[in-house]
Amino acid sequence: MHTAQDLRAELGRIDGRGYKAYKDIEGAWDLGRFMLFIDHAQGDPFAAPSLLRARVAAGVAGAAGFPADLGRGRARRVALGDFLARAFAAAAGRYARGRRGTGKSGLVAIDCPGQEVLERSAVLVADEFVEARFAAGLPAAGRSVLGREAAAMLLDEVPRIVEASLYYGSLDGTALRRHVELVEDQEALRVALDGRGLVAFVPDGAILPRESGVSDRPLESSRAVRFASPPALRVTLQAPNAGAVTGMGVPRGLTVIAGGGYHGKSTLLRAIERGVYDHVAGDGRELCVAVPGAVKVRAEDGRRVERVDISAFITNLPQGQDTAAFSSEAASGSTSQAANIMEALEVGATCLLMDEDTSAANFMARDERMQALVPAGKEPITPFIDRVAALRDRLGVSTVLVAGGSGDFFDLADCVVVMEAFRPSDATAAARDVARRYPRRAAPTAAAAPPPFGPARPRVPLPGGFDAWRGRRERFGARGPDAVQYGRETIDLHYVEQIVDPSQTAAIAAMIHHAADRYVDGRRSLPEVIALVMHDIDELGLDALAPHPGQHPGELARPRALELAAAINRLRTLRVQ
Ligand code: ADP
Ligand code: MG
Repeated sequence: MHTAQDLRAELGRIDGRGYKAYKDIEGAWDLGRFMLFIDHAQGDPFAAPSLLRARVAAGVAGAAGFPADLGRGRARRVALGDFLARAFAAAAGRYARGRRGTGKSGLVAIDCPGQEVLERSAVLVADEFVEARFAAGLPAAGRSVLGREAAAMLLDEVPRIVEASLYYGSLDGTALRRHVELVEDQEALRVALDGRGLVAFVPDGAILPRESGVSDRPLESSRAVRFASPPALRVTLQAPNAGAVTGMGVPRGLTVIAGGGYHGKSTLLRAIERGVYDHVAGDGRELCVAVPGAVKVRAEDGRRVERVDISAFITNLPQGQDTAAFSSEAASGSTSQAANIMEALEVGATCLLMDEDTSAANFMARDERMQALVPAGKEPITPFIDRVAALRDRLGVSTVLVAGGSGDFFDLADCVVVMEAFRPSDATAAARDVARRYPRRAAPTAAAAPPPFGPARPRVPLPGGFDAWRGRRERFGARGPDAVQYGRETIDLHYVEQIVDPSQTAAIAAMIHHAADRYVDGRRSLPEVIALVMHDIDELGLDALAPHPGQHPGELARPRALELAAAINRLRTLRVQ
């Protein structure tokens, strides 16, 4: 039994039986125009929905008929998969009838992308086929099988959805090509930054503000002030498809974004933060890019820290705590921010993004009065202001800092941008002049001179810190967008701000498990372990994380190594040598 008729007959046979009878339709079905794989039939109409795949043969002889160049190279393939996932979601919205009984009966859903274009498992673009991975609620009345409803869903609706979304002929070819080319352009601009001595680029005309604090969609264009680069920072980059693009180049070194409150400083920084990802047309931030090693760093008091060398910032803690291997079950604002920086450097961060709104004030700088009141001998912190030059000059790590309340960084800044009514201007010369007229008399403030910034010393995680078991089975996965469940532990990712999609959270959970399963051996360092996981995904795609190889891999989107590291570092059971 392999054909549509067989599936119909099978559904007729189990009609009215207990819901578990749906297990009988698990397997592969040749529906003529495509293959339908029912990998997992849910055990209950109220349980997590069933997992299905629809595979359409591609290529010259195949049915899908995509021009070969649209799938050539990683960026294009990701973009094509993204477009198809959006098309499948739209078609499901159009053709799936929805409610067909109790629980999730009638649901047809695919993991639909948001404003970012990420590598995700929802649609696999392979050389020989394209395949959509989706979820379905198999229909039930109470807890018995509704065979006829299931037949309508699987043999009528699903084929219609597949027909409308996975065949080139059904899609808007021009829109698809534009989508693919836009993603390719963003990748190319991101790569071009380094050669131009830049860490970020914000194109003229961009819309950076969002609709609201809970929406990632652009602010309505009639209310938004479009980005306009200051002439002194204007650069023109070449994109392979769009050609010359003009906008503001954020140079390497220390850039300070100053300006009055509510003038758009944080919004600009946030756009740069998101510039490590590609965006869809109409987002407003498309072509706004940052170097791949750009990391948002903030204070995060209460987080756990495991043996991180924060001695470049903090020495001489009360009770003689070792800051070359600093551990805490609940770090303070300043120690958490120091740990966040050192952990990011450990896995290759090249640019720190910081906002005074979310930084620990005492970590950033100390003024003269405070130095007079609390003498250096009593202060464990060498503030960021006294280390930012070493970061830049010794490690080649840049910083983009939003500072509206303190001009202390003016002396050190390579570039100062002032935001006024959402319009940036170059204030580098003016800020230098101010710094000369109001000199900062502060000297290094820590009790003992901090050790020079060496390259971060990689830590070696111990296998004992990773335990996915809870009860009699391994359990791991996303718990909402901002938390990962790993065994008994919940990892709080609320402040890891460059996780932008719940499916990235799900992937992080699977990646931690993958890492613990294969690579954490008490000898490899954390960066080595993470590089191996990323390598597997480079080779095999996110399917490398599938719990059952060759089957529906779950709803996954790729995070960066930096976010995976951030999650492992927040695992409360983590132990390192
Ligand atoms: P700051 O950090 O300087 O205090 P924000 O970046 O938080 O300011 O911006 C303040 C408000 O202005 C936010 O509600 C933001 O969405 C909005 N905003 C920011 N940039 C623009 C813009 N270019 N056009 C319109 N509104 C904007
Ligand atoms: Mg702000």
